[in-house]
Amino acid sequence: MEYRELGKTGLKVSALGFGASPLGSVFREIDESEGIRTVHTAIDLGINFMDVSPYYGITKAETVLGKALKDLSRDDYILATKVGRYDEDGFDFSAERVIKSVDESLGRLQVDHIDVIQCHDIEFGSLDRVVEETLPALERIREQGKVRYIGITGLPLKIFSYVLDRAEADTILSYCRYSLNDSSLKTLIPYLQEKGVGVISASPLSMGLLTERGAPDWHPAPQDVQDACDKATALCRRQGTDISKLALQFSVSNQDIATTLVGTANPENIKKNAAWI
Ligand code: NAD
Repeated sequence: MEYRELGKTGLKVSALGFGASPLGSVFREIDESEGIRTVHTAIDLGINFMDVSPYYGITKAETVLGKALKDLSRDDYILATKVGRYDEDGFDFSAERVIKSVDESLGRLQVDHIDVIQCHDIEFGSLDRVVEETLPALERIREQGKVRYIGITGLPLKIFSYVLDRAEADTILSYCRYSLNDSSLKTLIPYLQEKGVGVISASPLSMGLLTERGAPDWHPAPQDVQDACDKATALCRRQGTDISKLALQFSVSNQDIATTLVGTANPENIKKNAAWI
């Protein structure tokens, strides 16, 4: 496994990171013991960065990840979770809620500190509130030692510069913006590097679009994008390879991205992903 610096945090994160949303059964109903085995397999493969959120499976992913991490030494992994999103439409970026949220996550994850706490999908809240209220509240939590670094996440790229022009954060998490079908994140990288902000990129398989199984029903990509990805998948199949292999190799090869988060609750898939990169 290759390790890369996460901005100015001093953390050295594995180039392939583990996205724990599938542990909340967001793609398919999962077997909890298989989910736990997947986490342990990821650690054995040298994957040290774990990302989750109270939103995934409405707390289920954090709970299952907590059970998996309980058997490990706290030095074995770097743990990132989120605040502010709790349901499909349930957003609350108030200081009061995020302070409570960190304590709830610590309980479910069964740890005494979180390495990276991130404001989840901030485009659905008020960006000004994130600047003026949420990030300052997380700074206070950092002073208490419950979290080490602070980040922001979301889909539109312009949210990152809006917030980082007005406030400080250690990391950003962008998703579906550095994969075979959309690599627009690279336009933001010089700005992030100038600010010393660590870059986390998620969903190299475009949340299932770039897999043999295809996208789940709820996938938001427009039909023409889904059709193009299906064609690319079929092309790879005809060439005797798997679109997911190509997709992962493309995303992880960008050295300016500290870690690329792939999600799975299947030990065999995480082994394949690590071998492919
Ligand atoms: P992804 O692109 O990693 O795709 C996940 C899907 O691909 C799942 O259905 C999984 O079963 C499948 N898959 C994984 N490996 C495979 C393989 N080798 N062969 C075939 N299929 C395979 O998308 P994701 O899970 O949404 O993103 C990864 C992680 O990034 C999430 O779990 C989450 O932690 C993070 N994330 C964060 C945000 C945010 O903060 N707003 C948004 C999206 C993702």
